[in-house]
Amino acid sequence: MRKLRTHLSLAMTLVALVTVALISLLSNVFVGSRFESYVREQHEVKTEHILNDLTMQYNGLARTWNTAAIHEAGMYALREGYIVKLYDGYTGEIIWDAENHDMTECEHIMKEISERMARRGSTGEFTSVEYPLTRNNRLIGTAQVKYFGPFFLSESDFNFLNALNMILLSAAVASLLVSFVVGWLLARRIARPIARTAEIAKQISAGNYALRFSGITKTMELDNLITTVNHLSDSLSKQEGLRKQLTADVAHELRTPIAALGSNLETMIEGVWEPTPERLQSCYEEITRLGKLVADLESLERVEGGNLALAKTPADLMELVRIVCDNFAGDFANKDLKLRVEGEQSKITIDKDRISGVISNLISNTVKYTPEGGQIRVCVRDSKHESILTVEDNGVGIPEDELPFIFERLYRADKSRNRNTGGAGIGLAIVKSVITAHGGKVEVQSKPGKGSRFVVTIPKDGDWEVLRC
Ligand code: ADP
Repeated sequence: MRKLRTHLSLAMTLVALVTVALISLLSNVFVGSRFESYVREQHEVKTEHILNDLTMQYNGLARTWNTAAIHEAGMYALREGYIVKLYDGYTGEIIWDAENHDMTECEHIMKEISERMARRGSTGEFTSVEYPLTRNNRLIGTAQVKYFGPFFLSESDFNFLNALNMILLSAAVASLLVSFVVGWLLARRIARPIARTAEIAKQISAGNYALRFSGITKTMELDNLITTVNHLSDSLSKQEGLRKQLTADVAHELRTPIAALGSNLETMIEGVWEPTPERLQSCYEEITRLGKLVADLESLERVEGGNLALAKTPADLMELVRIVCDNFAGDFANKDLKLRVEGEQSKITIDKDRISGVISNLISNTVKYTPEGGQIRVCVRDSKHESILTVEDNGVGIPEDELPFIFERLYRADKSRNRNTGGAGIGLAIVKSVITAHGGKVEVQSKPGKGSRFVVTIPKDGDWEVLRC
């Protein structure tokens, strides 16, 4: 398996390679064809020029040719790659012949051009074309011009094309190098945090939740990945803590009543104690407490298990509050607690049983955590979009550092105190789950020694709006 760095570097190099190859190919094709037509045009111009030069050397009156000038023009044409032969128009005699004049030079030039064009892959050859030379519409001579057809490139044309290819080749090498280095650097920037995140994920899977990735990568997706892995680590660590605490607490909660029950029954079986109705009653109460704890755990599992099915019906929250408060009348009286129920009617579509459970949990907590003679206030407020329930007391309150945890299952602030109250730390976890399932929220404000205030906000469903109209 290849490393990401190798993959990216190779990919970048491949892209550069393809781009350079394409540019080279296209520029060669386009420049080549443009250049070819330019050379063809040049050929026309040069031939025209040679023919004009030759025509000018004819003396019409004397019917003679200026051979010295023709020689000069012919030699010039020869150096340009054109082998000229001139015939007189009247006599048909050869006036000037480049091959006759300097055979070696002609052969040398023809060989040079043929080799040069063969290198370029041309299949052309030297051909002769005859052009009539006229003056005043009268034929004065015939010029036979021999050149490499259909076209040929001069030395400087060749140099130009070679220079162009050299430029393309240098650009290709430079861009390949640059793309390889850029790919390598880019890959290093991406690969490092990924490797580190993978290492952290490996540590997490091995149960080591303390590791965190602290670097910033400046790449959105990588930062998201790192944040997600860090969150995963956080929540796993929290879950792990809760799981341990849950096991410890459940064991603890069960151990105490079971031990008490066991020793009481043992003493009665051994005949040390008479099984009086009071003693049996006490055993029965322990069993009831155990049953309640198990029932609480079960209902917590139901609401937190993700399959909380709400049986929503229209209800008046105020009416539910009054019913629940009535059920607590005995408890309020026992602790001499003063209850004030305030507010207004608030119609809302909710699961009545579960919301009654929520109210009941909050009120039972106020009873548990408010000393004798304390005050409890329950208030219902109604607005267009939500119902707000406030339950507050002037009881013992909750320490600030414990507030973020009280909605966790089996979490009990001030554990020793709560052992006496008989709470297992499940009630508020259920409250939160039920309210969350209704799309609402629970907030808490508290000051130790001053009291606590729980505020539950439940949004009203669209259905209810329709029902109200
Ligand atoms: P418990 O069964 O222990 O009451 P809860 O989940 O209902 O469990 O509450 C969690 C913890 O929050 C309690 O153990 C208690 O410390 C704290 N708490 C809840 N309500 C109040 C309150 N009204 N006043 C003071 N503390 C409270």
